[in-house]
Amino acid sequence: MKKIDHIAIAVQNLDEAEAAYKDVLDLKWHGREEVATQKVLTSIFEVGESRVELIQPTAADSPIAVFLEKKGGGLHHICFEVDDIETEMARLKEEGARLLNETPTAGVGGSKVAFLHPKSCGGVLVEIVEKP
Ligand code: ZN
Repeated sequence: MKKIDHIAIAVQNLDEAEAAYKDVLDLKWHGREEVATQKVLTSIFEVGESRVELIQPTAADSPIAVFLEKKGGGLHHICFEVDDIETEMARLKEEGARLLNETPTAGVGGSKVAFLHPKSCGGVLVEIVEKP
């Protein structure tokens, strides 16, 4: 695990949340990107070497829509960058962590990502990412 790549926050209204992070927190805005595999629209902010991603569902069956229904928004996951996602996934499995996907899926900007069950990580969903 090299560093915190990003922290993702689930929001009901991307326009409103984006304005708050831009105007109130004054974070440097990077832009928006749709992640089709997760059925979300993300708004990305840069904070030093890390990012904050606001995520809004684009479909009713998006995992984020389910999360918003249950919890009404807030911290959704923390993402750690790794050098080699396949090796890291194998290591985590060996350590007894519960992975939510067997193989990496496509993330923002051509990255490869995988998720760990919150039960394996103190109640928080954890994502790992390998950058292209
Ligand atoms: Zn993420």
